[in-house]
Amino acid sequence: MVPGPEFRPGSVWLAGAGPGDPGLLTLLALQGLKEADVIIYDALVPDAVLALAPPDTPREFAGKRGGKPSFRQVDISLRLVQHARRGKRVLRLKGGDPFVFGRGGEEALALVAAGIPFRIVPGVTAGIGGLAYAGIPLTHRETNQAVTMVTGHDATGEVSGVDWHAVAQSSPVIVIYMALKHLDQIAARLVEGGRDPDEPVAVIASACTPDQVVLETRLGRCAGDAKTAGVMPPAIIVIGDVVKLRAGLDWLGAAAGRQLDPNPLGPASCGLAS
Ligand code: SAH
Repeated sequence: MVPGPEFRPGSVWLAGAGPGDPGLLTLLALQGLKEADVIIYDALVPDAVLALAPPDTPREFAGKRGGKPSFRQVDISLRLVQHARRGKRVLRLKGGDPFVFGRGGEEALALVAAGIPFRIVPGVTAGIGGLAYAGIPLTHRETNQAVTMVTGHDATGEVSGVDWHAVAQSSPVIVIYMALKHLDQIAARLVEGGRDPDEPVAVIASACTPDQVVLETRLGRCAGDAKTAGVMPPAIIVIGDVVKLRAGLDWLGAAAGRQLDPNPLGPASCGLAS
């Protein structure tokens, strides 16, 4: 074990648990799991990650069930403060990365307001880990120089709260969190905003877990295809030509016998063509 910083009594570590595979945890998150006096975790924190904590460490659920918040954000922040004030080492564990669509900033600001010392431990976000496990690079020289990461809805849950026209114009690759429920509306708005309905799309569900499902489809029909295939949340959506690279880079599929194409974009894509 790499010696890490001291996890001080009375402090909070706000840590990312990664997207699913416990192997994607950071050493700091693992240290937090081993040393915490109490673990407060969200719905998307994988059981396989919680299992790395000593069995007698108290753990408290603070997530959402069925898409509905079971706990008010202010109550969660208050709980962190109370535990810390009682001198506990508090591990606040969130799925993916705490600062990516995870409300980590809000919780950390509550700690600042209460004068509680804290550390942020980043994690592998679903929009990066999920793509890697689907065999889709986030960037590729021949397809995109930029990426947009966007949430499928605003703070009130409304699709219309996001400027989809601007997102459509933003970059060749778009990665969308929390989009499955309203995928029909989102896809329609992106097409209205100028995206090609024929653009490749991948829907990656339960990424980085043994239940991972990847659906390759097109923007114009992705919502219907996801519904027909019975894709369940959590799912990350990726739009753009990088999806084509999966034909060459689906390393998990290859382990199960899939034949990979070294030139998924045409003859030059592996960089070895003369
Ligand atoms: N902080 C998290 C995101 C929380 S928002 C992170 O950095 O990953 C919740 C959304 O994240 C889900 O609706 C889904 O879009 C995505 N997500 C999280 N875990 C996922 C997983 N294992 N597979 C696919 N999508 C996931």
